[in-house]
Amino acid sequence: MGKFGLEKDPPMQQILVFTDLDGTLLDHHNYSFAAALPALKELRRRDIPLILNSSKTAEEISTLRNELGNVHPFVVENGGAVCTPEGYFFAGLPFGATAQPGALEIKHFGTPYAEVLGIVRAIRDEQGLHFVGFADMNGTEVAKATGLPPERAEQARARLCGEPLQWRDTEDKLPVFEAALLKKGLRLLRGGRFFHVTGQFDKAGAVRWLIERYRQALPPGADILSIALGDSPNDLQMLKEVDIPVAVDPASGNRLELANPRAIYPGAAGPVGWQKAMEQIFLRMNL
Ligand SMILES: [Mg+2]
Repeated sequence: MGKFGLEKDPPMQQILVFTDLDGTLLDHHNYSFAAALPALKELRRRDIPLILNSSKTAEEISTLRNELGNVHPFVVENGGAVCTPEGYFFAGLPFGATAQPGALEIKHFGTPYAEVLGIVRAIRDEQGLHFVGFADMNGTEVAKATGLPPERAEQARARLCGEPLQWRDTEDKLPVFEAALLKKGLRLLRGGRFFHVTGQFDKAGAVRWLIERYRQALPPGADILSIALGDSPNDLQMLKEVDIPVAVDPASGNRLELANPRAIYPGAAGPVGWQKAMEQIFLRMNL
């Protein structure tokens, strides 16, 4: 109720910010988020959850999450799973205020990793195909194949969803492999250095699921304003899912074009664009 009981208070508004990492919150070249620090601090001061949503593994994101002092759920391996601190949605508001470092609850959106591996290996044996996955390599070999430092390579090997692999067979065997995977509900994606075998999911499904969980944890009638920031085509579905999408400039190639009239184009790449976009949002919302 308003001051004199004559008018209703506006409904509570909960803002949620989802962000891609590489090339968006993190600089494409040096992986720094320094340029976005003022906006990051402002989000924390206002108890606005920041939800990291990346192709990285849970262990890789956990390291960054610690550096950021972030206590909120996060999305791993391109939407393959959401990791939520235990009790996060039942601890009361503001979200994360009473967070203790501890166990994570994992929600899978596709076939879990152990099953993916079983399928991939069975097809390899049956069809006599030649390829090597991260699970076939040790940490040193993954470090060599990816160019990552050894400790980072171990984190990249610790997977929950998909398997990256090096194709060592002829190009014409790829459709055979792909068809066999499809029969088991799996996809084959071509990345820069690796192929990726994953279930059927994207970053948007995880965002949808999380928004619903926040909604359930909020008082009835509370409003959610969702914001997402990204730089490349694998962010597009996530950006379509939210109220205010932000397309930062990519390090190379064309900027994403969004149909949403509330879309923000900060005109700068990575964390510089991230900071500019958040400044615009704070201004626009009179925050
Ligand atoms: Mg990116």
